[in-house]
Amino acid sequence: MAIDALSRGLSVVLLEKSDFGKGTSSRSTKLLHGGVRYLAQGDIRLVYEALSERGNLLKAAPHLTSVKRFVIPVYSLLDRLKYTAGLKIYDLMSGKLRIGRSRFTDREDTIKRLPGIKQEGLDGGVIYHDGQFDDTRMLIALARTCADMGGCLLNYCGVTDLRKDGDGKVAGLSAKDEISGAEIEVKAKMVVNATGVFADQILQMDKPGAAKSIRPSQGIHLVFDTDFLGGEDALMIPETSDGRVLFAVPWLGKLVVGTTDTLRESPDTDPRALEEEVDFVLKTAGEYLAKKPKRSDVRSVFAGLRPLAAPKEGRTMTKEISRSHRVIVSDSHLVSIVGGKWTTFRKMGEDTVKAFAEVTGTQLPEVSRPIDRLHGYTLEKDGHFDAYGSDAAEIKAMAAQKPEWAEKLHPNHPYLAAEVVWAVRNEMAVNVEDVLSRRTRLLILDARAALEAAPKVAELMAAELGENGTWVEDRLKEFAKTATAHTITPDEKN
Ligand SMILES: Cc1cc2nc3c(=O)[nH]c(=O)nc-3n(C[C@H](O)[C@H](O)[C@H](O)COP(=O)(O)OP(=O)(O)OC[C@H]3O[C@@H](n4cnc5c(N)ncnc54)[C@H](O)[C@@H]3O)c2cc1C
Repeated sequence: MAIDALSRGLSVVLLEKSDFGKGTSSRSTKLLHGGVRYLAQGDIRLVYEALSERGNLLKAAPHLTSVKRFVIPVYSLLDRLKYTAGLKIYDLMSGKLRIGRSRFTDREDTIKRLPGIKQEGLDGGVIYHDGQFDDTRMLIALARTCADMGGCLLNYCGVTDLRKDGDGKVAGLSAKDEISGAEIEVKAKMVVNATGVFADQILQMDKPGAAKSIRPSQGIHLVFDTDFLGGEDALMIPETSDGRVLFAVPWLGKLVVGTTDTLRESPDTDPRALEEEVDFVLKTAGEYLAKKPKRSDVRSVFAGLRPLAAPKEGRTMTKEISRSHRVIVSDSHLVSIVGGKWTTFRKMGEDTVKAFAEVTGTQLPEVSRPIDRLHGYTLEKDGHFDAYGSDAAEIKAMAAQKPEWAEKLHPNHPYLAAEVVWAVRNEMAVNVEDVLSRRTRLLILDARAALEAAPKVAELMAAELGENGTWVEDRLKEFAKTATAHTITPDEKN
């Protein structure tokens, strides 16, 4: 949305209470998808919209995205016909932006693609394609694109109140620097509430007692070593016992398996996986994998809250609530964007910025620069450095400059000390968690390794930020708590 507004010549200040991506945006399945399940639910408009966004994003950020092949295992002729036909429609709906051809493949080829699949009763598989991305690296690239375009971005700066003019219209806001405690005020022609599951907190600032607009629905993922599935292709289980889909997707050298759909009463900055959710994912994955994953195999667990737009009356199951977004313009002219998906963020931004005309009574300038190339755009691929795009050369130069910056943060993972220094200098990383969870993805991939790497990261950050030993100790204590939430205790049975 900030990029859309900037491209129309508007000025933008973006305030984030915590770190960029601390909320749901770091906890997704990392798919750019039309949503095969939404197709089955008949949400055709959403699927069209998302497929178009998927296609354009793959072009705008080749360094952060890739095409992933998915295989749906089939065990009956009916399933074979149903999924082959459904996915042909999915292909057709992508139009010119189609990224692969769906087709049925036989049992032998399915096993070759998914070596870890349970083979009993397997007839074959249906292959289809979707996009895959690194959610927080995409977010950092978006933030840097905004900054390149003249936007002002502040992390660790939360909105505390809305300022109104004599007519009761929103004319700005108050915010607090969460690190120094300083208060700031921002005057604005339009204030947008894009706070995901926290949207109701801002709506309450505007109008105490306002109706709830959000229904948080929790989804968790478990992360395993890739050998549970083997190969490069992803597994899609189209119908779990609770009527959802489950993915097992190779991503950054690990296997990400999820997700769930559990209604939660209130938003939470650090949602934790529930025991029953962990059991459900383990059990369902175990029904399809030859080697059943156990609790002790889990490298990391992460939970996120879907900011689903509150459903119309009569719809209570979260899986029935549409993933479409909604722009709400309050009487006070506060503009809120609720619901939506990562994949459709550009369209969500465009629809939100269009409210500018209604709120200010002035004509909205046409877009002069749509999102066609994100910061770091490059076509070159280079392992985990891909996500930095053209910035990778500078990071590698830093590593070449000082031998200690060329050292790995953890022996089992590719991240270098130079990336920590880079993140502090260029990507507004302030805390150990910012680096280990959202600039690199170590916490998401392997929580124990992240804990082991934390002291090195804290020392490197302290040197960059001019902080002392107490700062290091405090940050490490905080990080240990966070990392614990990403681990699960193995039980005696396994
Ligand atoms: C389990 C799961 C899997 C998903 N998988 C996919 C997927 O594969 N593909 C896809 O397209 N979508 C996926 N989604 C959906 C997608 O992740 C979300 O729609 C998206 O990340 C929501 O982004 P957001 O900016 O609205 O919310 P958030 O990312 O939560 O951002 C809101 C931010 O607002 C900040 N904030 C709160 N209060 C204030 C305040 N007072 N002042 C300033 N800032 C404040 C918070 O700190 C937070 O960082 C998934 C969602 C979940 C839960």
